[in-house]
Amino acid sequence: MKPSLLDFTQKELMEQIKPSFRVKQIYGWLYHHYAQDFDAMKNIPKAMKEELSQNFVVNPLRIKNKEESTDGTIKYLLELQDGKTMEAVWLKMKDTQHDTNGIVIQEAKYTICVSTQVGCKVGCTFCLTAKGGFTRDLTAGEIVAQVVALKRDNDHKHNRKINIVYMGMGEPLDNLDNLAKAIEIFKEEEGLCIGGKRQTVSTSGLSNKIDKLGAMDLGVHIAISLHAVDDKLRTELIPMNKAHNISSIIEAVKRFPIDTRKRVMFEYLVIKDKNDDLGSAKKLVKLLTDIKAKVNLIYFNPYPGTEYKRPTRADMVSFQEYLINHGLLCTIRDSKGIDISAACGQLKEKTEGEL
Ligand code: SAH
Ligand code: SF4
Repeated sequence: MKPSLLDFTQKELMEQIKPSFRVKQIYGWLYHHYAQDFDAMKNIPKAMKEELSQNFVVNPLRIKNKEESTDGTIKYLLELQDGKTMEAVWLKMKDTQHDTNGIVIQEAKYTICVSTQVGCKVGCTFCLTAKGGFTRDLTAGEIVAQVVALKRDNDHKHNRKINIVYMGMGEPLDNLDNLAKAIEIFKEEEGLCIGGKRQTVSTSGLSNKIDKLGAMDLGVHIAISLHAVDDKLRTELIPMNKAHNISSIIEAVKRFPIDTRKRVMFEYLVIKDKNDDLGSAKKLVKLLTDIKAKVNLIYFNPYPGTEYKRPTRADMVSFQEYLINHGLLCTIRDSKGIDISAACGQLKEKTEGEL
C-alpha cells in the first residue's frame, strides 16, 4: 500500500516534496477543497503530479455505504485500499439558529466520530466491533481521511468548526503513535485547524497509555469508558480490566493534564439489571469524588445475539437524578441515529454480514 498524502504534517511533506510552495498548494487542495486525486490539483504541474503518484495516493478510502437518520446523523461504511472496512459517523449536534429578522445567529454544529482500528483487541462483551476480532491499526492518514471524506460528502466548508470524537471502531490508545500523528495533522493551522480542545479521545482505560498520551501534551480531552463501579463486573464487560483495573484508571486520570475549566468525561454504558441500580450510582459518586468529572449515561444498544438488554427510561432517569443530587454533572446521551445502525460496528455487520 502506498502512503497517503494525508499521513503527513505539512512540515513532513516539505521534507519529501520540493519546492515547499508546492506543498502549501497541495495542502490547500487536500484540506480546503478535499481533493480526492491528483487530477483535481489544477495548479500543480502534470509532471510533478505524475511523479508524486508513483509514491503517494491522495485519498486512502472510499465511501462504501451510508445510512441517514431522520435526526441528521449519517453513518458511513468506509473501504480502505486493502478492501478492509470501518465506520465513521457524522453527527448534527445543534441546528442553525436565526434571530427574529432571519439573520443567522448560530451555525449548525457537527461532530465527527472516527475509527482508529479495523476491529479491536480489547474484546468488550457488549460491543459488536469486538465480535469480529482485530484486523489492523489504521494509519494516521486513514484516520484523517475519515474527517476529510465526511466533510466533503456533507459539503462542510473548510473554515467551519467541527469536533472530533475518537469513539468509532477500535481502541485509540492501542494505536497511540498513529493517533497522536492524526491529532497533530488535524491541528495544523493551514490544514483543517481543529484544535486539541475540539478533539476527544475515548478509551476503555489502558491506564499506562493514558499516562503516555498525557505526556505528549497534545491538549486533547479524554473520555473514559468506565461502565462499571466494581472490578468484578467491569472485568466481565471489559476483560482487559484485569490488567488495568478501576483504581489504576482513576489514578491515571488524576495525573492527566486537563484544562482547569474542563472536566473529564466518564462514559457509563447502562445495561438493564447489570449496572442500572442506585447502589451502583452511589458507588459511582464515591469513586469520582476527587475528580472534576462529568458522567455521560449511554443506553445499551442491543443487536441480534446479545444477552444484554437496554435499560428502561425510568431507570436511566433515576440513575441520572441520583448523580445530580449528589453533586455530579450528568447527561444522558441522546440516542442519535437510533433508527439507523447506531451502535459501534452495526453498519459494518449489516452490510457485510461477517459475523
Ligand atoms: N474503544 C474506545 C472507543 C470506541 S467505543 C472505548 O471503548 O471507549 C465508543 C463507545 O461506544 C464506548 O463508550 C462503548 O462503550 C460504546 N459502545 C460499544 N458498544 C455499544 C452498544 N452496543 N451500545 C451502546 N454503546 C456501545
Ligand atoms: Fe474496543 Fe471500545 Fe468496542 Fe471495547 S467498546 S471492544 S474498547 S471498540
